[in-house]
Amino acid sequence: MSGSAQPYLTSEMADLIRKAISWDGAARKREYIISGRTRHFRVSESACFILQRVLSGDTFAQIAGTINAQATGSQVTEEQVESACLRLIAQLEADRDDAEVKPKAFGFWGRRQLFPKDLVLAIARPMSALYGRWPAGLLLIFTLCISIIALKGGGTRMPHTGYLAAYLLFLLSLMVHEFGHAAACCRFGQEPNEIGFTVYLIYPALYSNVTSAWRLARWQRVVVDAGGIFFQSIIASTYMGLYWITGWDPFRFAFLMVLLSVAWSLNPLFKYDGYWILSDLLGVANLHRQMPLVWSHFWNRLRGRAVPLLPWPGKIIAVLLVYSVCTSLAWTLFSWRLLQSLLVLFTRLPHSLASMGSSVWAGTFPATNDLRTCVAALLLLPLPMMIAVQIIRRLWVNSPPAPASGVAALKLKA
Ligand SMILES: [Zn+2]
Repeated sequence: MSGSAQPYLTSEMADLIRKAISWDGAARKREYIISGRTRHFRVSESACFILQRVLSGDTFAQIAGTINAQATGSQVTEEQVESACLRLIAQLEADRDDAEVKPKAFGFWGRRQLFPKDLVLAIARPMSALYGRWPAGLLLIFTLCISIIALKGGGTRMPHTGYLAAYLLFLLSLMVHEFGHAAACCRFGQEPNEIGFTVYLIYPALYSNVTSAWRLARWQRVVVDAGGIFFQSIIASTYMGLYWITGWDPFRFAFLMVLLSVAWSLNPLFKYDGYWILSDLLGVANLHRQMPLVWSHFWNRLRGRAVPLLPWPGKIIAVLLVYSVCTSLAWTLFSWRLLQSLLVLFTRLPHSLASMGSSVWAGTFPATNDLRTCVAALLLLPLPMMIAVQIIRRLWVNSPPAPASGVAALKLKA
């Protein structure tokens, strides 16, 4: 070992480090985003400093010397600098197009691409014009007026027919929603990635991969987060307008379904649009992963232990505390309800299995109800384990705080 990491840096890595940009967040210490080929890395100021010194040819001993000359508190050793540096370089090195391990987002069960990146770009780029000041302002007024008139004028009556057509119109609005995120990303000069299908927790969902939005300013990220709801509201208002013109009930029913779906998307407790809007408004990355940090901080303070300062200003910490209480309650309630449904399902299972066995034995097709119970039990089997792990992690384990450097979480907007 020559005492320098420069020989390990490829010219491509050097280029990425040179293009590192400051991340617009609320933390007291500055953070940086280094954008690789497939992933974005959020690194602390000191990590970015080390990489840049390596780039300029400094040895580990020289870097440790520079850090210690500026530091007022604890000192770092040459070995600590070396290990931090090699870890960062290893992460950058693992970021290749052919990397075997695909980055995963927590809570999402697999992803199936529906629109590849090129197609998303071709469709989303022209749509990004809707985010201009005038078009966006006029469209907001349009959706607001239509929604108010529809809700005041008895538009919420349940229709009697046309459920299938209404559901297809609703599915179309979900697709448009995803393009809303992608188009906002294009508007601010970043390239969105694929749009696809996933299962989030237990809900089937479409998603738009807009991880490149990590490079945007805070207010621009909020626009990307809210972009799906914006586009979906435009199409919903158009449905309502068409209902007034044609009198065709499925348009009105589709409008109502979109309204409910938008209200659900704004819920910040699970990883829907509301979660990302809150996260970017606060300037706190990975909200869910900060919960253990906030909990352990206050728990240790209650026990009279000396604790390091949390990385954010007081107002942000207060919001995080309220948010973490609400999230923990919501997760517990969600898990409890799900567990109750699973118990009912599994108590029915032995009877359904026996009934299916006798049908097969008798050479007849099993009853639909029995089939449904068995398939549902099979699909839902992994869930109790996942819930148990969730609860233990959230309530009893003092999880380590979110790392100062690492792969920035995928921004999958459902
Ligand atoms: Zn969305």
